[in-house]
Amino acid sequence: MGREWLLSVLIIVLGGLSTQALAWLPGRDGAHAQAEARERACWYRLWQPIAPMLLIAAGLCGWALTQPDPVPDRLEPWGLYGAWLPFALIFGRACLRAGWALLRSPAECGIATVGFLQPQVVFSPFLAKGLEERAIRAALAHEAAHAKHRDPARIWLAQFATDLQWPWPAAARRLDRWREALELARDDEARAGGVDGADLAAAVLATVRFLGRAAPERRAGLGGSEPAHARLVDDARALRERVSRLLAPLPEAARGRRGRGRRPGLAVLLMLAALLAATGLGIVYGERLVQPLLALTL
Ligand SMILES: [Zn+2]
Repeated sequence: MGREWLLSVLIIVLGGLSTQALAWLPGRDGAHAQAEARERACWYRLWQPIAPMLLIAAGLCGWALTQPDPVPDRLEPWGLYGAWLPFALIFGRACLRAGWALLRSPAECGIATVGFLQPQVVFSPFLAKGLEERAIRAALAHEAAHAKHRDPARIWLAQFATDLQWPWPAAARRLDRWREALELARDDEARAGGVDGADLAAAVLATVRFLGRAAPERRAGLGGSEPAHARLVDDARALRERVSRLLAPLPEAARGRRGRGRRPGLAVLLMLAALLAATGLGIVYGERLVQPLLALTL
């Protein structure tokens, strides 16, 4: 059978199994007082159930490098196809939702940051008409912070990672917690840049009113897929904590954090090193592990 085809089937089955085995775990709640640290912790927690799948994929790629194409195979491993189907459906659903998220219009959000490579702010003129200039400046500063950190791309990736963990509610909760923390972190960054918290709170509340009147939350299509935009108001449920924070003095730790872009952290470098190591192990030991598995599923 074709080498790449067998490789993709194995990645989906073994990666799907490892992800489903970990996705249900509730994980620790982010208890960081500082919004930026909380955002970062929630971001890594969101990816933890996916990490073994990436390592397995790297190991299998290493194994595939040692194989001829097509892989000499006695029989079709039908048991493998049976295990592949449910995980392939979850993967297909995640891809469909990721595609749909790209097609959603930013006009639904009032004010949002859109685009992956060069994010831009989209501001509904109907919303801007009802806002004071100071509130507009505050909202733009919040969105500029989203653009600086390339949050539209991160939101899209986070949604995809969460969809790979479908249908576990714990995965959706991890995404919700991260998005709440993301908004608080961008609020703090805007305020550290000189924006008044009360102005930002006014913009947030005006946006909530605007969305309620002009564009009620639409959750139709593919089970409520979210657009791949970073918005001023993401989740009305978390509004109380957010407005309270905006009206309180900016925490000392958040001051002076203006203009700092996202740098690859130690966790990313460690993950890259682990992926390389997994590829190496796949080259050396892959055949010994894959052949018994294929024999099992014949
Ligand atoms: Zn936002």
